[in-house]
Amino acid sequence: MRIDIVTIFPEIFKSVFEFGIIRRAREASLLSIGVHDLRDYCQDRHRSTDDAPYGGGPGMVMKVEPLVTAVEALSSSVDIESEKRRLLLLSARGKPLEQHHVREYSRAEQVILVAGRYEGVDERFVEATKAEEVSIGDYVLSGGEIPVMVIVDAIIRLLPGALSDSDSAEQDSFSRGILDYPHYTRPAKYRGLEVPDVLLSGNHNAVQEWREKRALNDTKVRRPELLGVK
Ligand code: SAM
Repeated sequence: MRIDIVTIFPEIFKSVFEFGIIRRAREASLLSIGVHDLRDYCQDRHRSTDDAPYGGGPGMVMKVEPLVTAVEALSSSVDIESEKRRLLLLSARGKPLEQHHVREYSRAEQVILVAGRYEGVDERFVEATKAEEVSIGDYVLSGGEIPVMVIVDAIIRLLPGALSDSDSAEQDSFSRGILDYPHYTRPAKYRGLEVPDVLLSGNHNAVQEWREKRALNDTKVRRPELLGVK
């Protein structure tokens, strides 16, 4: 898989991709990540990426031309059919990200992610490129870079071979539509708090049964809407 990120702050990404599962996945050539400075796609002398909003009001708006130029250049930089490419614009106005969206993205051959800044992006970028607008939650951040990292991390966990057995994503929250079960490790007793007996029993079936029950029960209590309960 190829991941391309368009941003005015490429430096922000330097350390995140150098650790843990993302690093391992890159080293294993499961994916390659390109971080692109939007300024490199500006045609004007000042390499400006933003301008004042039409209609007045506070802040600046990201200009449409450099964004479209960047996306077109990155799309044609790899030889894949357009159905195998996803173009995502990070936006608080977008559809809220869920695990099943991430699963779809993980099946693409190229994912291009565009990080907004300021008041956001000229709406004609979405009209011209048909980018999918994606939100990582109902709150507003200063830029799309952190949301991009969130999506890239979530995608990589689903790439075949990215996780070792011990990292397995199968039991993860949302992968089966419910939350994960709670986890415990040594010591068996901490400040009077004990690990459930069944987990120390060595009885694999009983452990499985307990985990299933807890995952379901915790989902009922914490996130009933995942089970279709309003
Ligand atoms: N004026 C915009 C609004 O109210 O929807 C907020 C713009 S925000 C300050 C700047 C950029 O941060 C956005 O263009 C977007 O790329 C990113 N951003 C902020 N919150 C986000 C969220 N919840 N999900 C995804 N991206 C977000």
